[in-house]
Amino acid sequence: MQPLTNILNLNIEEYKKLFDGIEVIVTDCDGVLWVDNEPIPGSAEMINEFRNQGKKIIFLTNNSTKHREHFLIKLNRLGFIAEKQDIVSSASIVVSFLKRKGFNKKVYLIGSTGLARELKDAGINHLEIGPDVIIHNNLYKTVDTFHADPEVGAVVVGFDEHFSYVKLLKAASYLNKQSCIFLATNKDERFPISSKIVVPGTGAIVKSIETVSQKAAILLGKPSSYVVKTLVDDYGVQPMRCLIIGDNCKTDILMGSRSGLKTLLVLSGLTKLPEVEAWKNSSNRDDSEFVPDYYVAKLGDLVKFVKKVA
Ligand SMILES: [Mg+2]
Repeated sequence: MQPLTNILNLNIEEYKKLFDGIEVIVTDCDGVLWVDNEPIPGSAEMINEFRNQGKKIIFLTNNSTKHREHFLIKLNRLGFIAEKQDIVSSASIVVSFLKRKGFNKKVYLIGSTGLARELKDAGINHLEIGPDVIIHNNLYKTVDTFHADPEVGAVVVGFDEHFSYVKLLKAASYLNKQSCIFLATNKDERFPISSKIVVPGTGAIVKSIETVSQKAAILLGKPSSYVVKTLVDDYGVQPMRCLIIGDNCKTDILMGSRSGLKTLLVLSGLTKLPEVEAWKNSSNRDDSEFVPDYYVAKLGDLVKFVKKVA
């Protein structure tokens, strides 16, 4: 089957062939299951139906600001059958990465409470989060009074609304040590909150620290291959037997294409069909990685179809 097929156009044999080979459904959350706090009609019914048919479901989000408990409450409230271990966030991938490395030092954390709690739950010590500003409006005094904690062995960066010059100074100073690990939960440039105000995202924070430290952060959220590594190592997922559902071709679909997962784009979120058609017809070979195998207007549109072919 050629990429970019409307999944509703498959015949019964094609559909069965596709889904008989799928053991795990990995679904993005925002733009697929809901938009902010509004559920997308039919998504819960479809995900639960996949589960009824014996598929393992993994909810995958790049959002590091919230603890997985928060996502679990939201999923259950919106009608999704889910348990905490079914949720993989960029914060939980940070934990998994550090655990795999046998990390036993402290983290200098630029982030918010969700990420801090995930580290704490895993027994990984971190320095305090929250506001950290210039002392008495005096940079020299601030520099003089900063005593780097020798126990810090990693700088972890997620979204932090209290990001400041002082945090930049401290992060870069810790990264001066050659052995210090530098991790980023995602590199999203902006939040799509307002059409008038530009709201900087984690990517802006990561880039400023990369500039000063002259080091590149290891990206752990989508589209990083570390996400797939986590799914394989921690969840026993076989990429070839996995379908990823997402609304963002530059994260969800790109990661799936690069790692050999089947990919399904829903048009209920960020990426629109004309963009995908342009990538499909592009002469730049890299653009083909943004093109999903299948697409559908919204996940709930599959419900009737799936029940018909079941
Ligand atoms: Mg999304």
